[in-house]
Amino acid sequence: MTDLPRIDEALALVLAHVRPLPLEDVPVGSAVGRVLGEDARAATDLPPFDSSAMDGYAVRAEDTPGRLRVVGHSAAGRPELGAVGPGEAVVISTGAVVPTGADAVVPVERATGDVVVESVGKGDNVRPRGGDTRSGDVVVSAGSPLGPPQVSALAAAGVAGVRCRRRPRVAVLSTGSELRAPGEPLAPGEIYESNSVLIAAQLGSAGAAATVFPVVADDAAATRAALEQALEHDMLITTGGVSVGPHDLVRATLAELGAQEIFWRVAVKPGKPIAFAVRGDSLVFGLPGNPVSSLVGFELFVRPALRAQQGAREPGPDFLPGRLAHGVRRNLDRDELVRARRSGDQLEPLSGQDSHMIVRAAAANALVLIPRGEGELAPGAEVAYLQI
Ligand code: AMP
Ligand code: MG
Repeated sequence: MTDLPRIDEALALVLAHVRPLPLEDVPVGSAVGRVLGEDARAATDLPPFDSSAMDGYAVRAEDTPGRLRVVGHSAAGRPELGAVGPGEAVVISTGAVVPTGADAVVPVERATGDVVVESVGKGDNVRPRGGDTRSGDVVVSAGSPLGPPQVSALAAAGVAGVRCRRRPRVAVLSTGSELRAPGEPLAPGEIYESNSVLIAAQLGSAGAAATVFPVVADDAAATRAALEQALEHDMLITTGGVSVGPHDLVRATLAELGAQEIFWRVAVKPGKPIAFAVRGDSLVFGLPGNPVSSLVGFELFVRPALRAQQGAREPGPDFLPGRLAHGVRRNLDRDELVRARRSGDQLEPLSGQDSHMIVRAAAANALVLIPRGEGELAPGAEVAYLQI
């Protein structure tokens, strides 16, 4: 058991086999959730002109304090084209162009109606041209994930479209003769199929486009036919059928179809029997059937692979620091991902840690990494966790 790859070793093998997908054009308005494929540069200085940070009066700082003569009006989008000379002021609104000659803005609260203004310093309440970014500077760099602040920054800098690696096209194939869709009656020995919706949901949040195949029974011909089709994707994720039972057909069938197995089994709990294979540029993950094993296997290996296919600089997984709210017994041979409820930096491991217990796992918002070893981790121990 101890010679199985550990999580980081298995992940390194996965990432070593990833080929980033081709680039495509994406309008900024639809780019959230994607990864930027090439540096995006500002199309303009931002702000594009010296602009006012306040409603007030544009003035020459050297004329303040004092009584000034209003000679014009500069509103946002409607600039005052005349200049401000000695003893003069222009009424100005937030975001409006600071007129030539003026070098400061007196806020309206610091002026009286007949325009006696208080003292201001040069540059006060003026947002200088290019203070946020300069035209041609990098706004967001290649490999960065695009969230709301990033797409907003791109739009503000005049970037209408970006280059992203295309979304991974991923086939999802659950195997098991016992599996029925929710809503159907269960015959003896059957259970409801839950991995397809789990993985499709995880794929959605990872920026991938999922094609969910019909569940395939533990039958050699049916498994082969389904896998053959499903392999025509950037990634194939199967669940079930990767253990050592007589009905576990996935690995042998993948090999028949030309997929090269890179590893099978990892020193992790849950999810030990995970398989990883490649065929050409396609990646294949054989996740174990137990729903919590599938969930964990996806977060540890599949999500980073998807990020890497999309060109992410930091594919993760994104472990965060926290503290155990109570002690946890360690597993001697395998690093363990324990389902826990996080509040602040406190992680409360939940009862019901068996890998079939997806309902118990649904109460968790964190997977806590308990490194393998002797004894137990004490209450308050510093640990790393993944948000789920
Ligand atoms: P396997 O990896 O095929 O040996 O399956 C391990 C356990 O997970 C068995 O109890 C299966 O019934 C269960 N299982 C397999 N696939 C699914 C699925 N798609 N949804 C829910 N449970 C499953
Ligand atoms: Mg099975």
